[in-house]
Amino acid sequence: MAGELYVVATPIGNLGDMVPRAVDVLHAVDLIAAEDTRHSGRLLKHLGIETPLVAYHDHGDDRQAARIINALEAGQAVALISDAGTPLISDPGYKLVRAVRLGGFKVIPVPGPCAIIAALCASGLPSDRFTFEGFSPHKSSARIKKFESLAKEPRTLIFYESPHRIVDTLADMAGAFGAEREAVMARELTKTYETFLTGTLMDIHQQVVADSNQQKGEIVLILRGLDVAAEVPDNGEQERVLSLLLDELPLKQAASLAAKITGGQKNALYQLALSLKV
Ligand code: SAM
Repeated sequence: MAGELYVVATPIGNLGDMVPRAVDVLHAVDLIAAEDTRHSGRLLKHLGIETPLVAYHDHGDDRQAARIINALEAGQAVALISDAGTPLISDPGYKLVRAVRLGGFKVIPVPGPCAIIAALCASGLPSDRFTFEGFSPHKSSARIKKFESLAKEPRTLIFYESPHRIVDTLADMAGAFGAEREAVMARELTKTYETFLTGTLMDIHQQVVADSNQQKGEIVLILRGLDVAAEVPDNGEQERVLSLLLDELPLKQAASLAAKITGGQKNALYQLALSLKV
């Protein structure tokens, strides 16, 4: 283990989700770097682990990272944990892992709980391709801008959100993605009040507004990506655009332009143009 950094996941609510290998690693290392030493101290006490703790934040001063690199240089093994779930996922650790790798030391993941994956795997939304967008901006104008920039994303979209902003965020999402966009709100995963709300953004917004309990706890929001196939205009629309263009342009140019405007196939529009000219 000498000179190695272990990135160790911890539970996101249910202590029973602590992975046995994570417990072994936290026992065996010389030092544990934690986001909040008091918070992690309680978990370690529960697990009977007495390994010394030091604080680490990506935005802390460079001495925190230097101390960890020094320990690795001295042949010690170090584990990185965060308050909950997988370090680096909307949690500190990126700068440290980068510095440790650049320093030529080994970085070893000890996988375990992560709210993104827990929410996605039980959501019923497409899981083959997805994008994680982290927390959204606090200010509504910036939030709407971000959502609008994602409105045409075809992959499933995953967001973390604070319970204080959930009502406003759902309303802003309905505006930017459309009130009918399918979504899932996963709350308090692995805990007593674990809840999944499903339906359109409008349905979920109404349920959350009507029930103040839904405005509490930890939340993951998942949106179905844009159904690109459904966005391609039907033949009626293609025919309308093509007819207008054929009144003004030569056939080949009209077909090419109609393909660009409607998102249709150039060859198919050329064939359609021929049939319209007859
Ligand atoms: N590193 C963590 C992980 O692996 O998921 C995420 C840390 S981030 C600071 C905390 C956010 O993750 C919460 O505000 C919430 O959006 C989400 N989260 C964490 N635990 C959760 C849980 N038990 N249920 C639902 N969402 C959770």
